[in-house]
Amino acid sequence: MASRIKTIGGMLRRGEITSLELTKKYLEAIKAVEPSVHAYAKVTEDMALNLAMEADEAFKRGDDLGPLAGIPMSLKDNMTVKDVETTCCSKILSGYRPTYNSFVWEKLSKGGAVLLGKANMDDFAMGSTCETSCYGPTYNPYNKNYVSGGSSGGSAASVASNTAVYSIGSDTGGSIRQPAAFCGVVGLKPTYGAVSRYGLLAYASSLDQIGPIASSVEDAAIVFDAIKGHDEKDHTSAKNAPAEPIASSLAAASVKGKRIGIVKSFYEDLNAEIKEAVFKAVKFYESEGAEIVEVDMPLIKYVVPVYYILACAEASSNLGRYDGIRLGYRASRYTDIDDMIVTTRSEGFGKEVQKRILLGTYVLSSGYFDAYYKKAQILRNRIIASFGEIFAKCDAIISPVATRTAFPLDYASDNPIETYLADIFTVPANIAGLPAVSLPCGKDSKGLPIGMQLIGNKFEEGKILGLAHSFEQSGLSGVTPLEMGVRL
Ligand code: GLN
Repeated sequence: MASRIKTIGGMLRRGEITSLELTKKYLEAIKAVEPSVHAYAKVTEDMALNLAMEADEAFKRGDDLGPLAGIPMSLKDNMTVKDVETTCCSKILSGYRPTYNSFVWEKLSKGGAVLLGKANMDDFAMGSTCETSCYGPTYNPYNKNYVSGGSSGGSAASVASNTAVYSIGSDTGGSIRQPAAFCGVVGLKPTYGAVSRYGLLAYASSLDQIGPIASSVEDAAIVFDAIKGHDEKDHTSAKNAPAEPIASSLAAASVKGKRIGIVKSFYEDLNAEIKEAVFKAVKFYESEGAEIVEVDMPLIKYVVPVYYILACAEASSNLGRYDGIRLGYRASRYTDIDDMIVTTRSEGFGKEVQKRILLGTYVLSSGYFDAYYKKAQILRNRIIASFGEIFAKCDAIISPVATRTAFPLDYASDNPIETYLADIFTVPANIAGLPAVSLPCGKDSKGLPIGMQLIGNKFEEGKILGLAHSFEQSGLSGVTPLEMGVRL
């Protein structure tokens, strides 16, 4: 897969197209594609045109803003952009216009990025299908009867339908990687702390991480290089993360001699088409000189409950601030202040969010804290320690991204437990704060993309992206860009 960012960046620099012309093409494509995909919660047309004109001015002056200058993109609706309504696709934040930029948007806008709009997502990033958004679902660009994945479904669908060159998503338990896999694109969840969460409206702060969704591994690396870095406004932002750019070293990355871990138990009950697609990649790495090593993950049976206990506990605390007083929505009919808060929260939060707040409050309440929350924390530490042993034996772990390809529409709401369990391969990286990349490795019999995942040790994004790039360049995935959206 060629780098769209480099191709378009070259055209802009050579004067073959202006950012304004390009942005207009994207805005037209959004008008044509959105009725069937609905990747955007909001299109910021005027802002996009202004930013494009500013980028063109910068090109004229000869300013070097970096590789993302003048390039149209989308941003998940849980990251703030000053004065642009930011809702987490939740009714409770309707009308909220932040007074400050998130760290990521601040960095991207300084680099001349052109914001096309806020990408659709599950209500407060809680979900796996993008169907809990208060704006309605995002459909899978490969087949409208299926979901785009979640929670960053709008981000993934905007890239897959080429109504954005790249997107920024967030991943608490798989929300970058799983929609990327469902939509046949690339998603990187960086190491916890590698990208500042300042201005990311929190879901579960110890698990949330911002990262890119793009149409190639190289593009994901270019965007990651642009948004990473220390930020004193986020106290969990890493101080000593490697600063060297990764994108420029991908071409030289070699598979030879790398030790790639596979966990046999992952494949015991796995869907046969997904197993076959992931093993095609395993064979590729082997043929390129990698050593395939078997590793054990006995704690895997606990990762989904640990994730849901911790994520819901943190969410119940983080979402306490939405009370109808400080920001966003307020119920119009109430008797007194207590009733106002209860009614606002009952009307403003979607059903899934309310369920998780209740669950989180329950596991934190006295009498249940030790039985659930504390146990989950103990297990979290054991899971983290187990990765230490695994990475002593291998450089990266290869696994599926999800237990299945995209869910049919409405399937997840009828099968909530199965949907939670489908997160089993993505949540370990969040629990342990590790980087993980998702990339296409095949298609199922319905023509829906299948994703594979490479998990690395902390701050080894370069290693996993290098391995991902090699597989992508082999062309073995059989997933090619959809003929949709902008064609240059
Ligand atoms: N599917 C997971 C959930 O429902 C992941 C969400 C996320 O990463 N934001 O919580």
